[in-house]
Amino acid sequence: MVLKALRTPLEWTTLPDRQPGPGQIRVKVSACGVCRTDLHVIDGDLPDPQLPIIPGHEIVGRIDAIGSGVDGLKMGDRVGIPWLGHTCGTCPYCRMQRENLCDHPEFTGFTRDGGFATATIADARFAFTLGEAGSDVSLAPLLCAGLIGWRSLVIAGAGKKLGLYGFGAAAHIIAQVALWQGRSIFAFTKPGDTVTQDFARSLGAIWAGGSDEAPPELLDAAIIFATVGALVPLGLRAVRKGGTVVCAGIHMSDLPSFPYGLLWEERQLLSVANLTRQDGIDFLRQVPDMGIVTHTTTYRLEEANQALADLRAGRFDGAAVLVP
Ligand SMILES: [Zn+2]
Ligand SMILES: [Zn+2]
Repeated sequence: MVLKALRTPLEWTTLPDRQPGPGQIRVKVSACGVCRTDLHVIDGDLPDPQLPIIPGHEIVGRIDAIGSGVDGLKMGDRVGIPWLGHTCGTCPYCRMQRENLCDHPEFTGFTRDGGFATATIADARFAFTLGEAGSDVSLAPLLCAGLIGWRSLVIAGAGKKLGLYGFGAAAHIIAQVALWQGRSIFAFTKPGDTVTQDFARSLGAIWAGGSDEAPPELLDAAIIFATVGALVPLGLRAVRKGGTVVCAGIHMSDLPSFPYGLLWEERQLLSVANLTRQDGIDFLRQVPDMGIVTHTTTYRLEEANQALADLRAGRFDGAAVLVP
């Protein structure tokens, strides 16, 4: 399913089989999650779009061809391919273990073809081995919603009382991770969205309400998964002195001006960009113990445009997953 022009539907396209080059693997896709970032790619919200492109960066599949010079992977291995598709390895950020900020990165489904396809080519060093526990569909949302959520959770610190603004694919995973860690979850949804508030409570949130509501007690940290800049002052208002607000999205509408008093007293406002391979290793290693249950709505690959439209309209809770 190819994006040929910004703000147009993806087109079902038949392409010749590609062979993996040196250091690459070809993966037969068995599931690919649909992420809000795919909407940003299609809408042209991200800088320097490269077209045509096959979106999709929450890929689960099995290796069916291996290029030269690939170590540690073999035919038939189940792997996950995330958003971070390649880094240069030589820029200052790569050298300081901050490859998520690489000066010359490649991103799956944005600057290199992704997983809305029957097969994809990946840089073998950026694929995660997934083992055999869990279904392909249930694992797919972990590759971005889970991973970026994990990085956001780590950056939010160890505080027990955690607010999540925007209770979509990432929040529904990270809520389960945080509960497993012994934290309390306060879920903020669109005002009046009682269906999603009930969903959050069903996953164990101690409180759920509208983003315009104050939580019943001050929070240690808040993660904003929604792409709405107006949530930033609300998040700052909801955290205690020294608390942290993390913006987890790759794109956000403009932040409104707000009184300095909301940031004063050493509250911190941070953004999270992309992921490192170490994030993936740290997170995926613990997944079998965490007992995460991903709530998924599956679509056939050729229904990608419907899945994207349903995500845009908020017509499902949890995550959408395409199955070729
Ligand atoms: Zn780099
Ligand atoms: Zn994503």
